[in-house]
Amino acid sequence: MQEKGTISIHTENIFPIIKKFLYSDNEIFLRELVSNAVDATQKIKRLATLGQYTGELGDTTVEVSFDKDKKTITISDRGLGMTAEEIKKYINQIAFSGATEFVEKFKDAKDANEIIGKFGLGFYSAFMVAHTVEINSLSYQEGAEPAKWTCDGSTTFEIAEGSRTERGTDIILHINEESEEFLDKWKLQGILDKYCKFLPVSIKFGTKTESVEDGEDEEGKKKWKSVEVDNIINTTSPIWTKSPSDLKDEDYLAFYKELYPMSEDPLFWIHLNVDYPFNLTGVLYFPKVKNDFDFQKNKIKLFSRQVFITDEVKDIVPEFLMLLHGVIDSPDIPLNVSRSFLQADGNVKKINNYITKKVADKLAELYKKDRKVYEEKWNDIGLFVKYGMISEEKFAEKGKDFVLLKNTKGEFYTLPEYKEKVQATQKDKNDQTIYLYATDVNKQDAFIQSANKKDYDVLVMDSPIDSHFIQHLEGKEEKTQLKRVDADVVEKLIQKDDAYANLLSEEQSTKVKEIFEKAIDNKSYSVEIEGLNPEELPVTVTMDEFMRRMKDMAATGGGMGFYGSLPDSYKVAINGNHGVIDKILKADSEEEQTKLAKQAFDLALLAQGLLTGKDLTAFVQRSVGMI
Ligand code: ADP
Ligand code: MG
Repeated sequence: MQEKGTISIHTENIFPIIKKFLYSDNEIFLRELVSNAVDATQKIKRLATLGQYTGELGDTTVEVSFDKDKKTITISDRGLGMTAEEIKKYINQIAFSGATEFVEKFKDAKDANEIIGKFGLGFYSAFMVAHTVEINSLSYQEGAEPAKWTCDGSTTFEIAEGSRTERGTDIILHINEESEEFLDKWKLQGILDKYCKFLPVSIKFGTKTESVEDGEDEEGKKKWKSVEVDNIINTTSPIWTKSPSDLKDEDYLAFYKELYPMSEDPLFWIHLNVDYPFNLTGVLYFPKVKNDFDFQKNKIKLFSRQVFITDEVKDIVPEFLMLLHGVIDSPDIPLNVSRSFLQADGNVKKINNYITKKVADKLAELYKKDRKVYEEKWNDIGLFVKYGMISEEKFAEKGKDFVLLKNTKGEFYTLPEYKEKVQATQKDKNDQTIYLYATDVNKQDAFIQSANKKDYDVLVMDSPIDSHFIQHLEGKEEKTQLKRVDADVVEKLIQKDDAYANLLSEEQSTKVKEIFEKAIDNKSYSVEIEGLNPEELPVTVTMDEFMRRMKDMAATGGGMGFYGSLPDSYKVAINGNHGVIDKILKADSEEEQTKLAKQAFDLALLAQGLLTGKDLTAFVQRSVGMI
């Protein structure tokens, strides 16, 4: 029996197109062929379970091998096999409506997945690396004849009697000249590790040497010998396929180490397991992130029935959870279509919501279970929670129950607790509650102390996400404003009715202003005379909250580049009620006045870590002179 035929597509040039457009991703031929072998193996097992196949299953390991001299790569399985008719049916008819449409649509395709998935071209990806492909198959069906199919990459094929004596299929690729790099042990091992590491059927690739016990020597010591054993490249039941109740913490930690060998232990994890209205399993880990989070993104691996697909999960996992690590496996995610389609896909949205909800539930549970432990982990998880609340309305809704605020004393409060705490002391004359915060507790220490003296509490907001989180809080918390503790002199941060009067006359105020402007001699600083508590510093340098915030946001990429390019502008508040100001006014000479004013101003800068370089040296010299 021998037959020639034409593959039923309407163009002569489909293979050059496949080759050309898929070239950059051509290693996925192995993923496609090994998955087909695994599918065929699982099908025969199912048939056996159903009693529709009663023969021996035998060793169902899938084997990948290569021959450098013959320039072949072979994928062998002991699956259900195919008859000649089935080969014609399943392999020859490329499942798409018309080649013209195909060529039109995918002229500009960037991604091999797009084409392969949409048109069921998995098998044909073999032609990305092979000039000729052979199928040698024997079907499980009783009395089936072995069949052999050969195709040289044109649209004609040949089908003839085969030589296979055992149930199953060999796919033999005759590797083309440009793809000879694949005829290499490490290259193939690498591709198998990437895509096939968790496939549900054992996959053998060559052999490896292992030490095994070999009896004892005369002194009773164990003897060892080297033996060649099959090199099985995969774990067939990775933990995400198991039931959480069968797993211990050690199992989750060991799997984490397997995925990310160099990483620190994760903080905790979530086992995802849902089968309605979509199917999804997986394990997501919360790593220790701290502040360098960009570099940790893109660590989640996406699988479809245990076949690795990609680690670009951007549209499937909510943006704020991109910092998580782990695995998601879903046969329901349309992997093979374009980005814009993916975003509009209903399943993807549901999956997105599901993951968000699971993460929120887990955090709520941890918070409820042990607040102290939760607080200890806050430095790491705070980032997720804040990021999540800013970016996902649904998450914000849940997050308000377990987001924590930390103050400079290291105490933690939930939002309602904090409101309760500061409401009495930090309400201004317009009935607004003012939350004070520091972004750098060392630099802003003088201001924190002034605030504490007035019984004001100061929050720590020192992570890169905080400038955005502050905006979020103001939007959500009623009648609440946030101000950095150095946004103004303490009296003015929270404006009350009982302010101190300025003891200076108008004439004196004008004079003091003149003296300071001359001493400072810098347009970035605008001098203002205030009536403050005489106990406060004589001079305080502050930056307006709004201005500073805009600059901060611009610096962290939060839009409004315009503000980022503005020069710094500070307010210099002179405490008209302070004794030093009186002393400056009464000084003998103009020279002495300038000197004292400069000294007082420098002290203010010093308190904020703003005095550096030449100015600092000049200050020290001047101070020595004064002593
Ligand atoms: P898909 O796997 O998405 O169906 P493929 O192009 O990869 O598309 O394969 C086409 C069909 O060829 C499969 O559905 C299957 O019926 C058949 N086939 C491919 N490889 C094998 C194999 N190793 N054993 C049995 N049948 C196979
Ligand atoms: Mg396939």
